Amino acid sequence: MFPVLHQEVHGKPLIYFDNAATTQKPIAVIESLKNYYETDNSNIHRGAHALADRATRYFEETRESVRDFLGARESAEVIFTKGTTEGINLVAKTFGRKFIQKGDEIIISTMEHHSNIVPWQMLCEENGANLKVIPITDSGELIWDEFEKLLSHKTKLVSIVHASNALGTINPVKKIIEASHRFGAKVLLDGAQSTSHLDIDVVDLDCDFLVCSAHKLYGPTGLGILYGKREILEEMPPFLGGGEMIKEVSFEKTTYNEIPFKFEAGTPNIGDVIAFNPALDFIKSLGKPAIRAHEDSLLNYANSLLEGVKGFIPVGTTKEKVSVLSFNIAQMHPFDVGQMLDARGIAVRTGHHCTQPLMKRFGLEGTVRASFAVYNTKSEIETFAEAVARIASFKN
Ligand code: PLP
Repeated sequence: MFPVLHQEVHGKPLIYFDNAATTQKPIAVIESLKNYYETDNSNIHRGAHALADRATRYFEETRESVRDFLGARESAEVIFTKGTTEGINLVAKTFGRKFIQKGDEIIISTMEHHSNIVPWQMLCEENGANLKVIPITDSGELIWDEFEKLLSHKTKLVSIVHASNALGTINPVKKIIEASHRFGAKVLLDGAQSTSHLDIDVVDLDCDFLVCSAHKLYGPTGLGILYGKREILEEMPPFLGGGEMIKEVSFEKTTYNEIPFKFEAGTPNIGDVIAFNPALDFIKSLGKPAIRAHEDSLLNYANSLLEGVKGFIPVGTTKEKVSVLSFNIAQMHPFDVGQMLDARGIAVRTGHHCTQPLMKRFGLEGTVRASFAVYNTKSEIETFAEAVARIASFKN
């Protein structure tokens, strides 16, 4: 079902544990891409011919599937972007520029990915707003009391990662949203890591924005989702200017299209949007509870095999986690550990995971990160744990 997994790396069967970076694609996604370029390729929304009609229909069908996937009220609240990074930048450059002013505050946390730090720093430099950071405990949880102390009527936005890519921590986002709304602040959830593991219902969560990336959801690269509440999206100015996002253009005055098109200037990533639909079908066919149960059992198994290994140092030890195992081996550089695992056919990620401030908080240069997905197996965990134990035994 996942063709890429059936290969050898350095003479060993590939064990792919770099799923937090990107997931592999089911054959249905690959076939959909091929089929699109073989039979349906055309530009959408404006064409007066059969291919354009078909491509438009399939494109909009994916939007509807995403609406269902996130539990949004209407598909107009689903905007296609290039990824999580672009989604956050879009909110910073539209909502941020219009609604956040000098002296206002934006709250993020110590465990944010750089893509949920830098756009806010850029905004603050531009408009004189201030960035506040929620500290975390040694086990990698937000310190709630400190968050409450940061919240005030100056807070205009709380932009927070739902599940950390470097630690796996699942943040108490519903509680965060309720507390933020009491001060009139809007909340953006970075769902890059949560959406593939956890059931998401944006209406129940009551988040104002949620962003995620298709490539971490068994879908194509170069595609992301920005969910926003209709009333907020309508008040926001457009992001990019050009075709599709306009209602009428004249040299005197241009009027903008309705949402979601107001935020989708130019020809979108049509083939990838269409190929994202079978990825969502794949997730739906398994169900998130079953996906999470499987991944949790892999994570618990890995922890149980590794906890007694001399020199094994887990990073991020909270209980409420997605299937991310971040660790170091005493006296070894994470990159060297990654190389030794690669030599055994095991793909992991090493380094700062785009969370340099978080690594600094732990006094680390980086970690080794193994992250599990639906297609991983217990026997792969055994091979991995055995390899880690052997590598650790060289030095410990
Ligand atoms: N936020 C988190 C928590 C992530 O894990 C990632 C990707 O690793 C991103 C944001 C950025 O996603 P993308 O590179 O797909 O825009």
